[in-house]
Amino acid sequence: MTTLSGKTALVTGSTSGIGLGIALSLAKAGANLILNGFGDASKVIAEVEQLGGKVGHHPADVSDPAQIADMIAYAEREFGGVDILVNNAGIQHVAAVDEFPVERWDSIIAINLSSVFHSTRLSLPGMRAKGWGRVINIASVHGLVGSVGKAAYVAAKHGVIGLTKVVALETATTQVTCNAICPGWVLTPLVQKQIDDRAASGVDPQQAQHDLLAEKQPSLEFVTPPQLGELVLFLCSEAGSQVRGAAWNVDGGWLAQ
Ligand code: NAD
Repeated sequence: MTTLSGKTALVTGSTSGIGLGIALSLAKAGANLILNGFGDASKVIAEVEQLGGKVGHHPADVSDPAQIADMIAYAEREFGGVDILVNNAGIQHVAAVDEFPVERWDSIIAINLSSVFHSTRLSLPGMRAKGWGRVINIASVHGLVGSVGKAAYVAAKHGVIGLTKVVALETATTQVTCNAICPGWVLTPLVQKQIDDRAASGVDPQQAQHDLLAEKQPSLEFVTPPQLGELVLFLCSEAGSQVRGAAWNVDGGWLAQ
């Protein structure tokens, strides 16, 4: 098992869903943890404290570069810096491109893409100085293929994968690696909303869930946050140290089609 004792992981958007699952995997592997996100962090903080790790929560809104800078400064002050950066915070909005609300486009680009640039540029100098680091970007299968109604999300996630490759190249001769993980459907609040929207048009909720999976994900099963947490641990391990610039899909067969 990977031991991350003495390392500090910052997981953006970790008060729910995928980020929470990844944060718990990192804490169970011994990492100190900085949580971020708008949800209630108190239960997770108590759970991580029980594991014996140091844990904190920073409430940065990652759509604001100044708040990201404040979060990285907090990490340096209270934890000695960020060793493992998991850029996970993200939002979704579904609408046709010619009806897409401009302010939703701007928010999705800011939260799902620009925040990855800001947290990475601010964390890298510390990682380089310590001679080790991991930047792990939670992109999506939508970083590799499109779907109707998701213009901003697909554009942002493709951007994240491009940025991942550049950071991987710029750190290639160091012990810092940068990779993207591309999940298919994971049953989190972000996806539950899309199921609820389908059910609102009169479809049985179970049927709406089945239809959502059947359209894209051949396994007909959701990917789980703990499964993604295990992949993050692998990328943090010595065995993962030459995985660089990858966009690793975990998608129940979505991209095999
Ligand atoms: P979620 O809605 O469960 O969690 C999102 C988290 O981000 C929450 O903690 C929320 O508080 C936080 N957040 C939202 N806006 C923020 C902001 N401006 N500043 C700081 N935190 C903010 O969503 P999820 O499904 O767990 O998604 C997490 C990531 O995984 C996203 O980047 C998403 O695009 C990606 N993803 C999700 C799926 C899926 O099927 N659920 C698939 C592929 C990729």
